[in-house]
Formats: sequence, C-alpha cells, structure tokens
Amino acid sequence: MDQAAFKVVVVGGGPAGLVAAHAFTKAGIDFVVLEGRSSVAPELGAGVGFWPMSLRILDQLDILEQIRPLLNAFPSKNVILADGGVLQNYPLKMDEYLGEHFYMCHRADLLQTLYDTLPDAAKARVLTGKRVEVIEVGDSGVRVGCEDGSWETGSIVFGADGVHSKVRRLAREAALEENPEAETDPVRPFLTSFEGLFGNSPLDALPGFSPEDLTEVHSFGTDIQVFAGRERVWWIVYHKLDEPTREPLRYSDKDRDAFADRVGHLHISDKLTFRDMYAARNSSCAVALEEGSLKHWGWKRIVMLGDSSNKMTANVGMGMNCAIQDVVILVNHLHNLLSKAGAPGSGPSAAAAETIDTPTLERLFDAYWAEHNEFSPKFTYLSARDVRIGSWSTYVRYFFDRWLYPLIGMRRFIFRFIVARFMSRGRVLDFLEIKNNFSGTVPWTHSPKNIASSGKEAKL
Ligand SMILES: Cc1cc2nc3c(=O)[nH]c(=O)nc-3n(C[C@H](O)[C@H](O)[C@H](O)COP(=O)(O)OP(=O)(O)OC[C@H]3O[C@@H](n4cnc5c(N)ncnc54)[C@H](O)[C@@H]3O)c2cc1C
Repeated sequence: MDQAAFKVVVVGGGPAGLVAAHAFTKAGIDFVVLEGRSSVAPELGAGVGFWPMSLRILDQLDILEQIRPLLNAFPSKNVILADGGVLQNYPLKMDEYLGEHFYMCHRADLLQTLYDTLPDAAKARVLTGKRVEVIEVGDSGVRVGCEDGSWETGSIVFGADGVHSKVRRLAREAALEENPEAETDPVRPFLTSFEGLFGNSPLDALPGFSPEDLTEVHSFGTDIQVFAGRERVWWIVYHKLDEPTREPLRYSDKDRDAFADRVGHLHISDKLTFRDMYAARNSSCAVALEEGSLKHWGWKRIVMLGDSSNKMTANVGMGMNCAIQDVVILVNHLHNLLSKAGAPGSGPSAAAAETIDTPTLERLFDAYWAEHNEFSPKFTYLSARDVRIGSWSTYVRYFFDRWLYPLIGMRRFIFRFIVARFMSRGRVLDFLEIKNNFSGTVPWTHSPKNIASSGKEAKL
C-alpha cells in the first residue's frame, strides 16, 4: 500500500466529490474520484440551492463565471395557503446581507459544468463506473476495490458517497472488527420523518409563473416549494410520515404517482394546482428525506463528508453548501499539513506519503470534525425546524406560521439574524485569493489566511 506521494481517493463524484477535485487541483494534492454511476452528470433529481458562501468558493476555484449562467436568483419568497391565498410575501435580502442572492441550479447541469471546468489532467482522474465495494486500510495507506474488479491505492479515503454511504458502512465494520467495543455511529444513523417528491416542469407550461418566483405552499402535513427558473420550474414536496423510520424507503413509479395524487389538489398559485405542475413534468422522483448528523468522522484513514456525514431536509437548500464546506475544511487542513511535510518550496504534492502516519491524520480529522460541527449540524437543525413549521406539523406550529409570524415579521428576522449570520461563518480555502467582492451588511467571519504559501497546481 505504499504510496510515493500523498493521494486522496475520493469515493463519490457528486457535488462534494467534484468540488474536491477542483480544490485538490488548486492545492497541488494528488487525487482520484471514483463515481459508481456510468456518467458524471446523470439527469436525476431536480435543482440544488446555492448560498453566497459557496459562491466565494467557486470564485476561489476560478469557476464562478462558468457556473454563473446556470444560476437562477431568488430575491424574495411568496408563502401561500393550499387554496392559493397569499399568506406573506417578503424579500430574502441575501444580496444586501452577504453580497449575493440565493440561487437554484439544475443539478445535472452543475455536475456537468464542474466536470467540464476541470483541467484535462484532473478530468482523467475522475473515473465513472467505479462502484466501491471494499476498502483496506494499512499503516501507510489505503486500497479501494471497485465492483468491476479494479483497485486504487492512496493515502486516505474521502467518503463523499451520499446518504446511503457504502464507505460509512465499511469504516464502521472495520472499526468494530478491530475493536468490538469501539464507539461507532449506528448502521442507519439518520431518521426519516418526511418523504419528498422532487421534479421539474417547463416554465412555459405554468402560466402565471415568471423567473425568480419562489413560492412556498404551507398546509397541514405538506409543504411545497416551487422555484421558477428561466427555463424550468423545480419543485419539491415535503410530506410528513405518520411515523419516523430508520428503515430505507423505496418508491416505485406507482408509489411516486400515488404520492403526487395525494397532494395534487394543493394550489401552487391562485389558478394552478400541484396536479397541473406534475402533469407537465419533465421528470420526478420520490425519496426519503433523512435527517441527522454522525457523531464520528470515520475511522483511521477514512473520513466522511457531505451527505454521508450530515443529512438534512432540502427545504433550506443547504445540503450541497454544507458538503462544499466539508471539502474546504478538509482541503485546508491537508494543504497545511502537506505544505509543511514537503521539501521547502516543493509544494504539497511532493510530500512523501510515508512521512504522514495514521495518528497525524486522525488528529487532522479531529480538527476537521470540530469545524464541521460548528457549521453543518446547525443547518440540519434549521432545516428541520423550517420544514416542520411549513408543514404545520403541530397546532402550535400552525399558529406560529399562519398567524404569529406574518404579524411580527418573524421570517425576515430569521433570515437576517439567524440564516445570514450562520452563513457568514462559512469557511474559504485558506490558500487561494477571492477575486470578486462579496460584501454586504453582515461581515464574513473567515477570509483566506495563507495566500503567500499557495500550492502550485497539481502536476497530474
Ligand atoms: C441522484 C441524486 C439526485 C439528487 N437530487 C437532488 C435535488 O434535486 N435537490 C437537492 O437539494 N439535492 C439533491 N440530491 C442531494 C444533493 O446532491 C446533496 O444533498 C448534496 O449535493 C451533497 O452532495 P454529496 O456529493 O455529499 O452527495 P450526493 O449528491 O448524494 O453524491 C454522492 C455520489 O456518490 C456516488 N456513490 C454512491 N455510492 C457509491 C459507491 N459505492 N461508489 C462510488 N460512488 C458512489 C453517487 O452515485 C453520487 O454521485 C441528490 C442526490 C443524488 C445522489
């Protein structure tokens, strides 16, 4: 398992895996991304939310201008009732607070652009059709085995393989095999209290909707979000389950249609119902919306990040943004460690892997986890509160949402004093400059610290 230069094996080529590929390229750290699907950008899911702190990272990675054309801004939100009546319309004011709006972008287009904007040598390190099945951890490195019989060697594993993470399961099993008394997270660490129906429909099939319209429908047991972009409308239905479960939920096409039918009568505007939008859909899928945060970062040379470590409902649109934060924190620590380990002036990629032992990496992962815990779990909590308010999960929440919040301007208060403030603590890559100005009335807590010692682009 000996590895000449330090190398990260990233399992999962979702948003976290591909942003990691960009960050490693800039940091001068060797990597390979193993993606189980046959394509880097499957036409699956709907839209993903982008908040200002992630735009700062795209700017640092020199890909903001290529991704910007995919972004659809949402400066305000319209909350309506299930009969189409307006409950409240209010500005989000993110551009005022943090210098950029809240945006949505089509997940498949984002993945394709993240891949396309990698330098050729880095693209060659993103491998598709590589479903990871086995991980062997040694004293000085790792071996990662894929379903197709191929193996990759490296120094550490990034478990960026999503909510049903195989890497998480393998790390847990290895920890328990070594020490049956080891403290680990449960096999199914996340709880599902809501199911979700994701999809998108053409904008021109929905009269009355215009780009930048963000509508949220609040009702007993169900919350619907409708994001009108320039060409398509992304939508997500959140439906509270009768009983929370840790069991995996699977939905056939018939189950998905039955789900749509149950909420079909709810209005998404004064004239249109959800049924109208569903009938015009380009695509849709039903999924469980797991929630929760791991207690442990992983084991030895395997570290979890993104949805595999922290899972939230999609309503605050923070899942991908938190995954990007995990990448930033980990790459900062690795860049710092490897810059010190390499010969002076040689750059992080020249650091010999054998000089970095497992206890050193465990300390690095502890430091990552402390910073992760200051950020991502807070958004899991915020998302959990928000979806329960919007779906009137109790009579008290109904009263707050329907009557009290509009009266006292609570939603604006939450955006200004909770959401914007939490987001302003988003980290940036310590070793790359930020070129654009992202300033608003809420100051950013972190800025790049160490630009002078910036790593050279990886010699891949
Ligand atoms: C198909 C899909 C559609 C989604 N659609 C939406 C959406 O519409 N809106 C939204 O807000 N969020 C969506 N999400 C979730 C969203 O992408 C994440 O919340 C967020 O971006 C964090 O990303 P991640 O990279 O940590 O995980 P994910 O986005 O889940 O990516 C994980 C990646 O790992 C790969 N993978 C899994 N197991 C293995 C394995 N054993 N070996 C190799 N590769 C593996 C998966 O194929 C996937 O590409 C979707 C996720 C998926 C997988």
